[in-house]
Amino acid sequence: MDWLTDFLLRSLDAVLTAGSGFLAPAIFFLSLGYIVKRKALLEDIRRALPETRLNIQIVLFNLVFTVPVISLAATFLWDFWHSTGLILYAAEDWDSWPVVLVMLLAIVLGDFVGYWRHRLEHHSILWPSHAVHHSDTEMTWLSLERFHPINRITTVAIDSSALLLLGLPPYAVVANFLVRHYYGFFIHADLPWTYGKWNILFVSPAMHRWHHSADEVAYDSNFATVFGIWDWAFGTHYVPGPCDGPLGVTDDIEPTLWSQFTYAFRPRAYAHLFRRKPAPAATTSEVTPAE
Ligand SMILES: [Zn+2]
Ligand SMILES: [Zn+2]
Repeated sequence: MDWLTDFLLRSLDAVLTAGSGFLAPAIFFLSLGYIVKRKALLEDIRRALPETRLNIQIVLFNLVFTVPVISLAATFLWDFWHSTGLILYAAEDWDSWPVVLVMLLAIVLGDFVGYWRHRLEHHSILWPSHAVHHSDTEMTWLSLERFHPINRITTVAIDSSALLLLGLPPYAVVANFLVRHYYGFFIHADLPWTYGKWNILFVSPAMHRWHHSADEVAYDSNFATVFGIWDWAFGTHYVPGPCDGPLGVTDDIEPTLWSQFTYAFRPRAYAHLFRRKPAPAATTSEVTPAE
């Protein structure tokens, strides 16, 4: 039962360290919100309260059950990829590079892999588990934590595997995780900033808010976390201005922990895969032959 003891200890550790892990971002975003919005912040907090309550339940569930699994999976992945002999470079090969440059490379590559992984999650087969993240109708910095356990595990597994296969040293893999995680809090915060033309370089809070928009015109846009350049390069960049419209999904997901986590296991979440697409509308030339 060593694995159970290991799992419970990791679970306990995740819960105990969560206090300090979330306290600093909470203070930071509350202070920033007050500087930007002043008294209007209180009304925004009140409106977001039901979704925030659900987000906190999801955070607690993931801390107790998902984080220990990820922690165990990280050790497994490290051993697995090293046993395959597929690692491109040895960790020592990076020793001659400046540490800052190796970390920067890991963050850029991590964001590139994250872009394509995220784009894949929007494919209709994978969407039901990713829909949980998009079901928050009052996005705040804490929405970053609103993830289905399956989505959380595949995110870490895919992103880390890509960096491990390159043989990047552990400190660079951790740097990629930390930077993209904390910047992830920032782009989910309820801030109107678009960065103007600079959002081609860096993802702004408004840019990611458009990614969560319920407006069909913004569907399948803005998949990157840190560098807007990936969306620009691959044709998914969409930032017409601040995003003030409704957020959320059309999927039948209730704002309860049970509904959020069971949706991906319900057959009806995949019904759209078997629906026949409507025939394309006839073009003008087909209706009215040219004379
Ligand atoms: Zn998404
Ligand atoms: Zn998001």
